[in-house]
Amino acid sequence: MRYGSWLVFLVGPVCSTFAAAGSSPPPLPPVDYSTIEGVLDGAGVSAGIWQPMAGSPAPVPMKAGSFEALRFSCPFEGTRIDRGSWDVSVRLDLALSSGLRLLMYCSDPAPVSEFTLYLHSGEGWYRVPFLVEGTTGWSPVTLLKKNATVEGRPGGWGRIDTLRFSAWRGRDRNTEFYLAALGSMDEAGDLVILRADSVAAKNDAELKTVKRYTQTMAAMLERAGLDYIVLSDRDLSAKYLKKIRLIILPYNPDLPEKVTGELAGYLKSGGKLLACYLLPRTLQPLVGIEVGAHIKQKRPGHFAALRPSAPALPGMPASTGQGSWNIHHARSLDDRARIAAWWFDDGGNTTGEPAVLISDNGAFLTHVLMDDDPENKSQFLLALLGELRPDLWVRVARQNIDRIARFDSYRDFPTACARILAHSSSSTTKRFITQARQHYQQTRKYLAEKNYPAAIQSARQSRHTLIDAYCAAQPAPAGEHRAFWCHSAFGLNGRTWDQAIKHLADNGFTAILPNMLWGGVAFYHSKVLPVASEVEQQGDQIEQCLTACRKYGVECHVWKVNYNMGWRSPREFMRKMKDAGRTQVNFNGRAQDRWLCPSHPENQTLEIESMLEVARNYKVHGVHFDYIRYPGIDACYCAGCRERFEKDLGRKVKKWPADLRSEADLQQQWLNFRRRQIDTVVEAVATRARRIRPSVKISAAVFRNWPLNRDSIGQDWKLWCERGWLDFVCPMDYTTSNTRFRREIVNQLEWASGVPCYPGIGLSTWSDRTDIVKVIEQMNITRELKTGGFTIFNYSLTEADHILPRLGPALTRP
Ligand SMILES: [Zn+2]
Repeated sequence: MRYGSWLVFLVGPVCSTFAAAGSSPPPLPPVDYSTIEGVLDGAGVSAGIWQPMAGSPAPVPMKAGSFEALRFSCPFEGTRIDRGSWDVSVRLDLALSSGLRLLMYCSDPAPVSEFTLYLHSGEGWYRVPFLVEGTTGWSPVTLLKKNATVEGRPGGWGRIDTLRFSAWRGRDRNTEFYLAALGSMDEAGDLVILRADSVAAKNDAELKTVKRYTQTMAAMLERAGLDYIVLSDRDLSAKYLKKIRLIILPYNPDLPEKVTGELAGYLKSGGKLLACYLLPRTLQPLVGIEVGAHIKQKRPGHFAALRPSAPALPGMPASTGQGSWNIHHARSLDDRARIAAWWFDDGGNTTGEPAVLISDNGAFLTHVLMDDDPENKSQFLLALLGELRPDLWVRVARQNIDRIARFDSYRDFPTACARILAHSSSSTTKRFITQARQHYQQTRKYLAEKNYPAAIQSARQSRHTLIDAYCAAQPAPAGEHRAFWCHSAFGLNGRTWDQAIKHLADNGFTAILPNMLWGGVAFYHSKVLPVASEVEQQGDQIEQCLTACRKYGVECHVWKVNYNMGWRSPREFMRKMKDAGRTQVNFNGRAQDRWLCPSHPENQTLEIESMLEVARNYKVHGVHFDYIRYPGIDACYCAGCRERFEKDLGRKVKKWPADLRSEADLQQQWLNFRRRQIDTVVEAVATRARRIRPSVKISAAVFRNWPLNRDSIGQDWKLWCERGWLDFVCPMDYTTSNTRFRREIVNQLEWASGVPCYPGIGLSTWSDRTDIVKVIEQMNITRELKTGGFTIFNYSLTEADHILPRLGPALTRP
């Protein structure tokens, strides 16, 4: 800690001035990291580096024991501000940091829907949401770079010049919170994933691919139990390279010459490298690996698995699944590298093509690392990294042992076993606990022998069986609505609808919401929407799904993506819509060609009739709205919206669209107008569908923060519940924070006004789509809050194979 005692004298008068303004926070606990002075303390306030946003009072320095903190007040009662928000000027280099940490105290966080930290550099912002975990004392908050989304074009983590703390309005009630002890997380800076951000200058689409494979690599490292830093290639410089000991290139097309130059210098001075699919020519002799011709698969399944060559690298699995469609040939230069793994096909035959080459300072994977077979994949990756840097083994072994019992509220292994057994003494639970204990003993033995790969393996088995015991100890309440959204109109890839639905029913799920129609395409015989070409070969998907649902007793609620025409909509149809003035235009005049304008009467008819057609032609249990909203506050400002709004208003808008934002009354009328367009569709579908089929249920997937979202996206779902248009509502509470999940549901149950609310669990949006523990924790929160059910996103092969078989025998027993 670096709390300068002089600060206390400097800010003494400031503190006492404000001491009477509110109750004092509890004393700050000591922290075991270095703090950044002059930001979350009186010195920062005195220096004038804080700038509150309009409507937010200035932060107030406070004494918290012998340390300092800042108090932030959120005046939400009787005001219209969306958030309390404060900017502070800083100069931070977070390039080799995992992110920021701080302490936070908030005794009443309910009025805040979400806290956000924005970090500004260049011409944009990084945005990290956060929550306070407890309300009785100071809680540690970590703001991880890997959780950041981007707005505008930020100029890298090395040059952060402003932090913005925002507390978003959740309810019309005042609250306040305290922040202290800001620090940077610098522990993992010697293992770096280099992200090819520089490709954005040439090709935006390629940047998406870069991000995807960077994320996959990061997720695999996390699964393996390795800390790392993602560094933008724009930020790479000699000053950082001195600290880095291993660099991973997950997918780095067109690396600028400056970057390859820096990397060459790094390799020459002892640095190590793992590259996937691409390796710049100048670096090849430096790691003793030559990359050759591009090789396409001969057929799907040609490249299906990675298998080690003999002798296998320590810890490498006997076979790791990866369905690649092409690779680059590679060979050793000057006998420096050896082949560590080969490509095998789906019949178990070798293809004769190397999958990995490894030398003393470099490894090359002949394709990108994909996210299939995640358990083996992370082990495979670890085997490569451990070979290049043997010091990583002990780090990973410790991590894996530490996390054996890290789930629910458990922290250590013996307590977890005792508490699970106290919960259930069934023979299944006991059997799993015995196994978990055996693996645990084995882990300790391997660790003592310094056999790290074996210790990691048995630590994982111990965790796996401990979680099995935890699952088996859970109750399975009867009459629960247990649903999955299914994003693919074809169900599970490679399986029939019959197989997919039987699997759900066998594991105690009661409903499916399959996505069968979009704004501009249908996956069944429709007379209202264009029909997807696959329907001709693969048949009517609603019919197939529904037949299976009827057979196995699973409810089928057909899901429509409203307004958004979708990526499968025929080009010709999309062009026709645009030419007819039926697509959206945003505030600055840019066309949004994929989105149908919600105020256009023919679009409303199309939305309504397409959903009614489903209710009329199929004996479905329900129809389900999604995207039943505007894309954002920026839409729709098309000529048609102007005409219809002015007619509604009874006068012209002088400056379109600027006046809609600058004149408060006009803005309110505009927001009402937008809401009404959406409401009309919901009301019409609800009343008319029930006339067609009285048993049909109307439901909607909605955003989670109704008070904000009714303005920002025109989604007034509380009204839809109050009017009885919805039979159930599914707020998409996609978060890995259980605290946030719980807090949101509490508010949502109130807004749902007695209409059943089956919260959405965002499994497929998490970095680990096999995180059974998080699914159980969140299911249990819905049970504690008595929602009567939940809806999991999304039903695909990974979730079907990794999640359902562990829920079915326990928590969701039929
Ligand atoms: Zn419009």
